[in-house]
Amino acid sequence: MALKLVSRSQWGARAYRMPNGGTLYSGKRGGIKLHYLGTAYADRPHAQCDDYVRQIQAQHMDGNGWSDIGYSFVVCTHGYVYEGRGLRRRNSANGNTTLNNQDYAVLLLVGSSGLTRPTDAQLHGARDAIDYVRREGPAGSWLGGHRDGYATSCPGTAVYAWVKAGAPRPKSTNTEQEEAPMADLTKHDVATAAWFTDIIQAPTDAPDVQTNPNWTPQSYLRSIYNAAVRTEEKVDALLAAVAELKKES
Ligand SMILES: [Zn+2]
Ligand SMILES: [Zn+2]
Repeated sequence: MALKLVSRSQWGARAYRMPNGGTLYSGKRGGIKLHYLGTAYADRPHAQCDDYVRQIQAQHMDGNGWSDIGYSFVVCTHGYVYEGRGLRRRNSANGNTTLNNQDYAVLLLVGSSGLTRPTDAQLHGARDAIDYVRREGPAGSWLGGHRDGYATSCPGTAVYAWVKAGAPRPKSTNTEQEEAPMADLTKHDVATAAWFTDIIQAPTDAPDVQTNPNWTPQSYLRSIYNAAVRTEEKVDALLAAVAELKKES
């Protein structure tokens, strides 16, 4: 995928305040920390994404009193990468000056309610941003979330699981070029593809959602089967205990 970079002038960024907005990184950046909004977020047409990024900047400058938008880059659900503080200027999003100086800060427009999972296009965009920042920053190979080394739930369950898995590109793409011609597929092919593809989102309270946010239908059924077996074992144990008590009385 080619990086879809939206420069500050393209999204209509306000000028940052000096001197603090112009503070450069001192030394090497170890890697990249991902963030989410931590508020409700509803997906929207891409035409409205730059409004939203300007709104974040206004909130950071006017509400928080910062010199600029806090993040290095912002990735919308359509996979566009908005330049915030960019490659050279130190971000202010990671919690404190040491952490800000240590890693880049990349925000995904994902909420704590509403849209809580990144879209495939957004994961491609975030991956593009990671590759770009590593190459041009340069950033070291470390990848993680705001919560690493700082007390916060950011970047939320789904984004954190993805970044700790190494930020892989989504397997299934919906681009027209890559779609197989339907005429060549049998019902069996379609069923098999659906069965082995990660299209079921794991329930947020699932025990292994941290490591596997997307379940295949196959793994989902296996989990249900395992839960049923465990329940059966518990019932057997209870029945045995009841039988034991009856014997005693
Ligand atoms: Zn954060
Ligand atoms: Zn967008």
